Amino acid sequence: MTYERANIAAMTGYSYGEQPDSGDVIKLNTNENPHPPSPAVQAALDAIDVSSLRVYPSATGQALREAVAKHHGLTPAHVVLTHGGDEALRLAMTTFVGPGDGFGMADPSYSLYPVLAQVQDARILRLPLDDNWCLPDNTAEQLNRHGARLTCLVNPHAPSGVLQPAAPLGTLARALDGVLLLDEAYADFVAPDQGYDAIALLRDCANLLILRTFSKGYSLAGLRLGYLLGNPALIEPIASKTRDSYNIDGLSQALGTASISDQAYARKVWGQVRDDRDALRAGLGQLGFGIEPSQTNFLLAQVPDGQAATARRLFGGLRDQQIFVRYFEDPRLANKLRISVGTASHNQRLIAALQQLLSESAA
Ligand SMILES: *Cc1c(COP(=O)(O)O)cnc(C)c1O
Repeated sequence: MTYERANIAAMTGYSYGEQPDSGDVIKLNTNENPHPPSPAVQAALDAIDVSSLRVYPSATGQALREAVAKHHGLTPAHVVLTHGGDEALRLAMTTFVGPGDGFGMADPSYSLYPVLAQVQDARILRLPLDDNWCLPDNTAEQLNRHGARLTCLVNPHAPSGVLQPAAPLGTLARALDGVLLLDEAYADFVAPDQGYDAIALLRDCANLLILRTFSKGYSLAGLRLGYLLGNPALIEPIASKTRDSYNIDGLSQALGTASISDQAYARKVWGQVRDDRDALRAGLGQLGFGIEPSQTNFLLAQVPDGQAATARRLFGGLRDQQIFVRYFEDPRLANKLRISVGTASHNQRLIAALQQLLSESAA
């Protein structure tokens, strides 16, 4: 006897990256930011009087909503705050996709998308990416034929880190019958010289939603704070109907506002992450790994050909030394490791450990 809905009983849940308890580990497996949040966040926390928690917070998170709108040159009506980017994905699913409706995604991509689609009992269309992590030419036609009410694409792409330019994504959005959600969880790390700006597409894409999160760029994964940007008509049903009435707690509102208001600090951290990413990429390249050109805070590293050590064995060997990276049991990601960019010293210890493991397996 089971009480679950049939689609829930049939599915497996999301598989999380490991969060080891011990402090003395090198954690490069869940794309957390290795730098602390802005000092303004600590100051905002110190200023909180716990008696303020006696009353409900602002239901719309008004001050933070305004700070987010200002940061992106939009109005508060273009913004809905969410409990992490993950809640934004769930809200898009429950707002735009009914049971039996079509849902579209690229493959491979963020493994939470199909989990949320299965919870909603949606029909999933997986569009296989080519060797350059690009979508097929007839993507819009396939999605429309499938009846996709919502399509989720992550850009820069996870787990490759590769950035697609904004213009073709706008063309795709305009060709779709349903909503296009652009998951920009890693957009903060994109180098300014890329000239990437998908938010400008909102001007003439009525069906476009853009996801952002404080987890990666602002070093606040523990807080659980994200948001969606879109035209007011698309945001309104989420902001006023499908989200929980007080989905953002008062602490998160205060700390999020302090965080996004300190752009000078944020830009410094993003620049540091990019520099460390380039150094890590060079170091892995010297060991023979093939690395995708990442615009994120992680690298997808292909184990060199002719090595006795496979990605799975390297993953295990690193883990034995308390160095955690991500390995996926997915044919498209065969013999690859996804490595988050850590501090310079953690990155150097990773390189040294990999060098050792490769030489041991060659011996
Ligand atoms: C991290 C991440 C998110 C959102 O994460 P939250 O911690 O819930 O904000 C969304 N999409 C992708 C691809 C991510 O990697």
